[in-house]
Amino acid sequence: MRKVTIKAGRERSVLKFHPWIFSGALDLSKEVRPVLTIPSGETVAVVSAKGETLGCGWYSPESQIRVRMLTFGAALPDDPVRLVRERVAAAVARRADFFASASTTDACRLVNAESDGLPGVVADRYGAFVVCQFTSAGADRYKAEIASALLAHTPGCRGVSERADLKDRAKEGLPVEPVFATLVGEEPPAEIEIREGRCRYLVDVRKGHKTGFYLDQRDARAAVAALANGREVLNCFSYTGGFGIAAALGGAAHVVQVDVSGDALALASRNAALSDAPAVIDTVEADVFEYLRKCRDAGKRFDLIVLDPPKFASVRSQVMKAARGYKDINLLAMKLLKPGGHLATFSCSGAMTPELFDQVLAEAAVDARRQFQMLARTRQGTDHPVDLAFPEGFYLKGVILRARD
Ligand code: SAH
Repeated sequence: MRKVTIKAGRERSVLKFHPWIFSGALDLSKEVRPVLTIPSGETVAVVSAKGETLGCGWYSPESQIRVRMLTFGAALPDDPVRLVRERVAAAVARRADFFASASTTDACRLVNAESDGLPGVVADRYGAFVVCQFTSAGADRYKAEIASALLAHTPGCRGVSERADLKDRAKEGLPVEPVFATLVGEEPPAEIEIREGRCRYLVDVRKGHKTGFYLDQRDARAAVAALANGREVLNCFSYTGGFGIAAALGGAAHVVQVDVSGDALALASRNAALSDAPAVIDTVEADVFEYLRKCRDAGKRFDLIVLDPPKFASVRSQVMKAARGYKDINLLAMKLLKPGGHLATFSCSGAMTPELFDQVLAEAAVDARRQFQMLARTRQGTDHPVDLAFPEGFYLKGVILRARD
């Protein structure tokens, strides 16, 4: 295994199991030539300035994150490919509950990147098909082995495919292409039907968001459904209808699904029919900011509002601008709640910390001149675990509020 050396004093994050080594932490003076010739994605040994082996990781010559750690400690794996296969098997084995006959769903994340010891590897299962995204040089290099391990270890799996359209790939020098490729096994159908409790959703794994569906909001959908009985529900940023359909099956009196995407709403309507949802759902193609203002001006009120917007901040520098966006919509929604009404509000921006999100909500409440109680927090489900040494893996926060009046 080729090796890279960390500058004195810069090994601390590695000793704490943090998986990222930034380019500035490497000592290029020692081994300039060998380092520059290491191929993208190769597994390298990481050595301290004193010469101790700290572990190994995937090398990415074009990325700010130059090495993504795979193992920590002096013992290096004999065979990097076998290590990858073992990691895939272990990640799938951790999701055994999702494959048990009692599982309420047939869709879940199987590999959650750094937090499952496979940096930049995401694999989501939709029924008999697995869809991956590879956003690190090493993930891309080993994708054939990762795909065949997924096929071998995932119960009932018929095919493993890749989406290569994620912008993050560019940071690793990988092509960003509108490519959907089946790596091993069968091609998935144009739409895959998945179940989650009594809900049924059609997933377009080629063009849908992420790998096709917001698997990470499963627990939050259940929390919203539990609040929905008899309620007037407004589901903002509905996408293909997840929260709204869960609410309708939870007994909602009426549900409005709002999204700017007509295609997403069309699929939301088909999902509602497929789920046998009661005929209480309307869809509105509109900008949420405008729609909320229109409701305000028309004096329309709701018992339960869901706000699950797209990511407003992807980097830390955008976080203050994002905070204003979150405050705007939350303020508008807070004003539209009936007395005692509930707001389920989310932020999937990793840069928006839970503390900052709470602060934004508190400020929105002040401006809305209403007091709220926090009833619960939600987060990405247990199939999207966060390694304790890698807080960057925590991105999806939710808060459920109740108006005190
Ligand atoms: N809540 C969804 C996921 C939301 S994804 C779920 O649980 O599945 C974000 C959605 O917001 C996308 O469908 C996108 O079309 C929509 N969107 C983005 N900006 C919008 C805006 N200003 N007004 C309405 N919808 C918007």
